[in-house]
Amino acid sequence: MSTADTPATPIPQIEVVEARRRQLAGALLIDVRDDGERAAGSPDGAIGMSCAQLPQAIAALASPEREVLLICLSGWRSLRAAQDLRARGYQRIASVAGGYGHWLAAGLPLQAGGLDVDAQDRYARQLCLPEIGGAGQARLAAARVALIGAGGLGAPAALYLAAAGVGTLALIDDDRVERSNLQRQVLHTDARVGLPKVESARMTLAALNPGVQIVTHAVRVQADNVEALLDGYDAVIDGADNFPTRYLLAAASLRLQWPLVYGAVERFSGQVSVFDPRRADSPCYRCLFPEPPAAADAPNCAEAGVLGVLPGVIGLLQATEALKLLLGIGKPLVGRLLLFDALAMRFRELLLPRDAACPGCGAAAHFSGYEDLARLCAAAG
Ligand SMILES: [Zn+2]
Repeated sequence: MSTADTPATPIPQIEVVEARRRQLAGALLIDVRDDGERAAGSPDGAIGMSCAQLPQAIAALASPEREVLLICLSGWRSLRAAQDLRARGYQRIASVAGGYGHWLAAGLPLQAGGLDVDAQDRYARQLCLPEIGGAGQARLAAARVALIGAGGLGAPAALYLAAAGVGTLALIDDDRVERSNLQRQVLHTDARVGLPKVESARMTLAALNPGVQIVTHAVRVQADNVEALLDGYDAVIDGADNFPTRYLLAAASLRLQWPLVYGAVERFSGQVSVFDPRRADSPCYRCLFPEPPAAADAPNCAEAGVLGVLPGVIGLLQATEALKLLLGIGKPLVGRLLLFDALAMRFRELLLPRDAACPGCGAAAHFSGYEDLARLCAAAG
């Protein structure tokens, strides 16, 4: 920060009691520890802003004339941050000597962090990502995701969404665990053959992350329950194994305005996309499949077979897209269809633009009720 002929004035370092006095007199106290460190608590009234975030954020927090005090764990990071702020024109800067450790030791007042000790530890490897941090973890905790099917796609997706701390997961599946499921549906165990899949799934997910609320519906998604089941969710993972369910989900996504994270597998290949009706440029499921295929053209896993790891790959891509949507980060797979070929080990991406003539979301599209969609699929089958 200095050149040879203009040595920098040392950054003032003040004791915690003096920092508190100045804070009460109007100085801004910034806790520059990382989100994960602050989660367990922070000095009362301090703004939490990591060293990495501070350069971009400081202008919105304080004018260069305002007195700014920086605190970290021991005093070293705050000193460096102070030097950085001075270089940006902030002159009334001080670093708190001894940092949060001295603040605690002095018995000065604290404010609670947003995460308890379990969460701080459990999510440490993602709390340290600037794109997630404490704020992102709070978004995940408040999020509600519904999974259609606790089978091949739903199993890996549910495991990782629960592990990541998505606050509420709804599992909707009317099947029971069969031994032939265990080759790929990794939520279930041999001892649970015969149990309802949603109950088996609840046991596994609760054991993995007791902080997640698991809602179970041992029913099939149908015309008369689809909206009641799926209203109020932030995202829905499509792990359905039949076309009638997929067409009902497509319509519900448009009407209830949640993003549908689509995935499908067969034999050695799979595909993924995101249909997000909150975006004007997003296609819907029926832009891809305008009408249900005849049953003979659409064999399911029981008929066509599937490599066991395949739904693992595709289900985790769906979970990845869901997490991005919940966090508002990255570029979602909207308007793109991702194809995976396991034998060639190749991913391909097709552009999937919105279809103006789509019977689901096009200009002339008309919704005449879920019963009509069920009849449409029955007629095709
Ligand atoms: Zn459409």
